[in-house]
Amino acid sequence: METEKNMEDILRLKNYADQSSVPIMMDEGMDFILDYIKSKDVKFILEIGTAIGYSSIRFAQIDPNIRVYTIEYDIIRYHEAVKNISRFNLGEQITVFLGDALKFNFTEKFDLIFIDGAKSQYINFFEKYKENLAPDGVFISDNLSFHGMVEDINITKNYSTIKLIRKIRRYIDFLKANKEFDTTFYSIGDGVAISKRAEIK
Ligand code: SAH
Ligand code: MG
Repeated sequence: METEKNMEDILRLKNYADQSSVPIMMDEGMDFILDYIKSKDVKFILEIGTAIGYSSIRFAQIDPNIRVYTIEYDIIRYHEAVKNISRFNLGEQITVFLGDALKFNFTEKFDLIFIDGAKSQYINFFEKYKENLAPDGVFISDNLSFHGMVEDINITKNYSTIKLIRKIRRYIDFLKANKEFDTTFYSIGDGVAISKRAEIK
């Protein structure tokens, strides 16, 4: 999929996101997840937070056998995602669900659940969807650094941002204290974590 035409189309999607302030994954974090998907032979992915379909398109393009379920509750973004996915001819691989990720009930088991929705809901997403992880499945959570503000909250004076940062810190503490899952934190992109089921000792 590294054709010149495809790279141009991807770049166009990234530029559009940039201009419309759609917070898509940063390149470094994206490369990290793509490498993970390739090295662990991930085939079935659930994504919480589609936005305009950029990340699900990148995931699906790795391999035609990869299937992606992705959830978006903003109707405008949902329609943009559906349009973009069909432009990339990935409609067979990617299914976009419209609605609140906290209200769906899937019975499927996923190799990877990518948490990239509302930062205030990360603990709820985690608790709800852990039942949908395959035995070797993992959660990958994005934006745990939130532009460096999680490490240094003084960067912002905006009250709603401060509240959000506190929620992200709470999620990080939740992951660190979680006995069921082992989490590794990576300070790449906007801060990424991988959580896998703890081995029974
Ligand atoms: N994964 C995308 C970026 C997602 S941005 C990419 O990297 O390309 C986060 C998106 O999650 C936003 O579009 C927002 O509308 C959506 N979202 C936030 N909370 C949600 C929820 N509870 N259910 C469904 N979508 C949600
Ligand atoms: Mg993100």
